Amino acid sequence: MPEKISRRSFIKGGLAAAAGIAASSLPLPATVKGAAKEELATLIDIRKCIGCEACVEACQEVNGHKHPEPKKPFPKMYPNRVKVFDWSEKRDVTDRLTPYNWLFIQEATVTVNGEEETFTFPRRCMHCQNPPCADLCPWGAARKLKNGITRIDADVCLGGAKCRAVCPWHIPERQTGVGLYLDILPSLAGNGVMYKCDRCYDRIEKGKLPACIEVCPENVQKIGPRDEIVKEAHAIAKEINGYIYGEKENGGTNTIYVSPVPFKDLNKAIEKGPGKPHLKPVADSMAHADNLAKAMVIAPVAGIAAAVGKFYKFTKNTSYPEEKGK
Ligand code: SF4
Ligand code: SF4
Ligand code: SF4
Repeated sequence: MPEKISRRSFIKGGLAAAAGIAASSLPLPATVKGAAKEELATLIDIRKCIGCEACVEACQEVNGHKHPEPKKPFPKMYPNRVKVFDWSEKRDVTDRLTPYNWLFIQEATVTVNGEEETFTFPRRCMHCQNPPCADLCPWGAARKLKNGITRIDADVCLGGAKCRAVCPWHIPERQTGVGLYLDILPSLAGNGVMYKCDRCYDRIEKGKLPACIEVCPENVQKIGPRDEIVKEAHAIAKEINGYIYGEKENGGTNTIYVSPVPFKDLNKAIEKGPGKPHLKPVADSMAHADNLAKAMVIAPVAGIAAAVGKFYKFTKNTSYPEEKGK
């Protein structure tokens, strides 16, 4: 087993335990302070990753309160071709994306200068600059924030999975038996809520680093204003004669990978499939005229749907003093 991977289990326990302690203590880099309104990107230098999974555990620990707690039995769906997606009994799965695992470590063994070398690197939502998941969500549940984060509002999402279908990497994952559909259209709506990395938006709001960045013992990831991150990625690529992924993909993303080997070689070597995204080149999906037109048509519907969802949630959670304790 390659050295990088064999270190994983050794390091994993200790670092994951440290994650909780360290999670609140380190501030954002000086360049990011007070910059929550400008577009921030992350840089992932895959040369540095040792595959320890401390970032995966930190993500689960810090964001566990956002994970779904489904009600069972699930309502019967019509048409019955709408499948149940239930990860609630498999919360410990960490080798792919799930509603309970928003980050996983991908592994690729490639030949470099005649020798086999294994690379490991974190995978999660790319946080696109022009995200189709947000632009085409019929309910306005997915949206892009000014600071470059794309997040799905679990209080508004109906789980129709349009976001997953239009995402070039098929990142969002569905959990059945949770969310608004249970209250309004339990047998006809989308069947759950979609989940993915929200780049720890609530930590960033408080000036903290995303948990996966903060806990990493090798400083694999860095966050900062996008133009600075892109400049740094180019400087590293120039120095190592390397390659960049994410700067141009899907018209530009806020997750920039830099690698000493071509991404086409990494893409060939990684395991791909549900919950395991590819590393192929991606054209700008929202540049397509049809998609833009669709986005414009659904925009008012999305606004109304989001408002109805939020109002419904508000009224459901609001009770008069005399009703409390009933
Ligand atoms: S990114 Fe950092 S924390 Fe995550 S597996 Fe790699 S070395 Fe470990
Ligand atoms: S990678 Fe997919 S889920 Fe993430 S912002 Fe882009 S389109 Fe949305
Ligand atoms: S940024 Fe936050 S939510 Fe996203 S993978 Fe890292 S820890 Fe998880």
